[in-house]
Amino acid sequence: MAETQITREMALGWVRSNLDSYPHAPQVSVHDPFTGESVGTIADCGSAEVNSAVAAALRAFKTGLPRAQRITILEEAARGLDTRRDEFAAVIALETGKSLKDCRTEVARATETLRYTAAEARTQSSRVIPADAAEAGEGALAMEMRVPRGVVGAITPFNFPLNTSVHKVAPALAVGCSVVHKPAHQTPLTALALQDLFREAGLGAGWLEVCTDGGGNAGRALVEHSDVAVISFTGSNVVGWEIAQKAPKKKVLLELGSNAPVIVTETADLAHAAKRIATGGFGSAGQSCISVQRVIAHQSIASKLEDHLAAVAGEIQAGDPFDPKVDIGPLISLEASSRVREWVQEAVEMGGAIVGNTPNNDSVAIAPIIISGAPEKSRIRQKEIFGPVITVLPYNTFDEALAIANDTIFGLQAGVFTSDVSEMLSAFHQLEFGGVLINDIPTVRLDHQPYGGVAESGNTREGPHYAMEELTHLRYLSIRAG
Ligand code: NAD
Repeated sequence: MAETQITREMALGWVRSNLDSYPHAPQVSVHDPFTGESVGTIADCGSAEVNSAVAAALRAFKTGLPRAQRITILEEAARGLDTRRDEFAAVIALETGKSLKDCRTEVARATETLRYTAAEARTQSSRVIPADAAEAGEGALAMEMRVPRGVVGAITPFNFPLNTSVHKVAPALAVGCSVVHKPAHQTPLTALALQDLFREAGLGAGWLEVCTDGGGNAGRALVEHSDVAVISFTGSNVVGWEIAQKAPKKKVLLELGSNAPVIVTETADLAHAAKRIATGGFGSAGQSCISVQRVIAHQSIASKLEDHLAAVAGEIQAGDPFDPKVDIGPLISLEASSRVREWVQEAVEMGGAIVGNTPNNDSVAIAPIIISGAPEKSRIRQKEIFGPVITVLPYNTFDEALAIANDTIFGLQAGVFTSDVSEMLSAFHQLEFGGVLINDIPTVRLDHQPYGGVAESGNTREGPHYAMEELTHLRYLSIRAG
């Protein structure tokens, strides 16, 4: 099927006719990261708006919604999103600066996430407990029941404004929790479009409230609100763990950042691995929590792999996200681009070497950068760069490769390219990550897999089935004849 041409004007048209939430709150601008221009204003919600949103969400939660209706709404939302896919891709491209190709993929994935959630809601069931296994249980019929926890405060990042939001909103609604959503200040428009989508799908008042803000006010108010039972947060590790400290009595679910490694052994298909690594390291301009950042390559093939990577990277076009030929757009802000360039310069000054083209320093969209051998103390090795940059690090033995991969505070996903089955097995057992992908990049996330990290990268698993478990608690029921 031929793709419709999506333009910046289409996105702006949608924005102009839809921005009316909390018109009485102070307003802040949303910017197009490529042009730098303001595309509209949104409410800068504070405690007052959050209080009223939580009150509405609590009313909805207490009223309840039958499961069959929740399923219908989720299915309807999936159909609606598929119908409105161009409009959603346009809005995402406008406020994130991600290329249309990346935005179309995000919309298609979010549609699938809604479908998976609806299917999961049809089948989620509870377990009968064998009460008579204990003498005290003789004559009782006992079971566990999953009960929704209450109002969910969903806080989301800028980089995947639709899919990260759907991964919170849909499972919450599926189990009967209402949601107050606080999107990132850079990308609130997609969240408002998602609210509109659910409204059209038949979701009633209070079930999905959206509190936009200009930085962190609404987020902080949500975290501190006593009627919010769960904070489901996706974002940076620093903010995530700070929230966990601030809300010790809430269920706090954290999906955080990483510095993803991929090991390439001497038995790997190098051309194939290079293509996949370029997708994983440079897609979405590297602004993905599972973006490939460290490529750990056997010393006998490291330089050949760098040549392959440079060749693939040279074909990637950076520029205006609305140009259908462009693969990667700008980073979210000029500050983010300056930070990335500073980290690259630091790695080079410390002894790393740029492979292939020298990075363009004058454009808002950074072309892919490959650094051979970034030193251990450089920020590229230690932290999450969140830009289209990878470093290639040589190793001697496979154990050394595993040690380099594990040498990080993060633990989201790791990848290994090898033909050796014993290496596959030891990688699975020894890599300290939430997901290990053999002969693939760590950047692959199936929307129904258990997805999440260990250590600094988080404390939960998303994917409809797993999120629905986290958003419910178990209530035990025992019945005896009276
Ligand atoms: P961020 O942590 O700066 O912000 C995330 C959200 O938290 C935003 O909505 C922000 O307004 C809000 N916030 C900021 N301070 C707050 C506070 N004190 N209290 C409550 N809310 C607050 O992250 P970002 O820059 O928007 O996103 C990038 C980060 O997200 C990266 O670290 C990336 O790895 C991570 N991420 C993780 C996943 C995952 O699934 N693990 C997915 C996407 C992004």
